[in-house]
Amino acid sequence: MKVLKFGGTSVGSAQRMQHVADIISDNEKKIVVLSAMSGTTNSLLQAVDYLRVGNLTGAADVVNLLERKYEKETAELYLTSSMQESVWEKLKTYFFEIRSLLLESYSNQIEKRIVSYGELISTLMFTSYLQEQNVDAVLMPALSFMRLNADGEPDMALTQQLLHEQLGQYGEHRIVITQGFICLNAEGKIDNLKRGGSDYSASIIGALSDAEEIQIWTDIDGMHNNDPRFVDGTQPVPQLSFEEAAELAYFGAKILHPTCILPAKMKSIPVRLLNTLDPTAPGTLISNDYKKGKIEAVAAKDGIAVVRIQSDRMLLAYGFLSRVFSVFEQHKTAIDLIATSEVAVSMSIDNLSRIGDIVEDLRKLGTVSFETGLSIISVVGDLRSDNLGFEAQVIDALKDIPVRMISYGGSDHNISLLVSTDDKVRALRALSKAIF
Ligand code: ASP
Ligand code: MG
Repeated sequence: MKVLKFGGTSVGSAQRMQHVADIISDNEKKIVVLSAMSGTTNSLLQAVDYLRVGNLTGAADVVNLLERKYEKETAELYLTSSMQESVWEKLKTYFFEIRSLLLESYSNQIEKRIVSYGELISTLMFTSYLQEQNVDAVLMPALSFMRLNADGEPDMALTQQLLHEQLGQYGEHRIVITQGFICLNAEGKIDNLKRGGSDYSASIIGALSDAEEIQIWTDIDGMHNNDPRFVDGTQPVPQLSFEEAAELAYFGAKILHPTCILPAKMKSIPVRLLNTLDPTAPGTLISNDYKKGKIEAVAAKDGIAVVRIQSDRMLLAYGFLSRVFSVFEQHKTAIDLIATSEVAVSMSIDNLSRIGDIVEDLRKLGTVSFETGLSIISVVGDLRSDNLGFEAQVIDALKDIPVRMISYGGSDHNISLLVSTDDKVRALRALSKAIF
């Protein structure tokens, strides 16, 4: 069995939903995981923002607009007026519930409940559409199996047990549809897997049901070997290893949620990235295989700062780095790249919210400076030492661009360089030209 996840744009309108129905119309059994229709999660969060500041008219306007959009989409989606009316009745109940929640005072829990309606609505609409088309499809509620533990992480053991129970009940149907993103937390309350979390849902479901493949359907034909927004003529990468894909997912290849990879990788289940707009395109296959000695892709991430600390106390001393790192830990800020010399360490971070406190605390340990407005450029592929020359190729491509920091050797799959964001596009183009 395969698990297929369709993102917000793939189910973004009645027409798009009909198209997804075509894509899944072969006779194979599958579990289909859906996001909310594109824009819906943002709108619901916008309504919650209005609630937070007490602007109830603002919230009501957003909800009214959203409701009208759904009225139009349901009118377009169904063939029979009986199906259309019955779905629209249910959606009206959902909107009634959303409005009732917006009458309460803001809390995290209210937010989670409101935002969950995006996926509840898209899956209801899509399942009803398939049923109207006489497809053997059924809705399996994510809230009856997807669970978080007390740390807010997926509770794999419990989710597995519940998922198997649910599949026992629904698994006879050819197409089992479920919601991405939403779940229950350890207290049994509605929660979610964070923005973009439907990919994660699909990966968890695929891993826990021993699927033969997990397919992530979006509106681009796989991971590209460079950023198509800045570089012309980028190509989809046909095949990546899990490690390579994980590096790329972090470094801005937004198509895949970074954590999504882990459950699939643990079970060695291949993940295929496919394009709803071009369903026969090969896309990108992510698995345990990799192409030996090949540089696969270049990616970039903006909004990076580098913090540098210099101290004579570091020279030939132990324990210095651990004191430096503990400052970042205290301020709950992850370090991405590190470069050290005998007397200085540079560290890059992408969360700048605590940078003032971090710098202040680090000043107790040495001389500190920091710089913002940087981008990480990451070159990903099989970079093991029996493949000579690729570092030279990368550095040579960037010979006209000031490089602030280089991190190499941390893994066999990636070399990362820090440049000013003003130089990013030039760096990406130069690398594409030199490597691909
Ligand atoms: N609908 C959620 C979001 O917009 C989850 C997802 O689409 O993956 O973040
Ligand atoms: Mg997404």
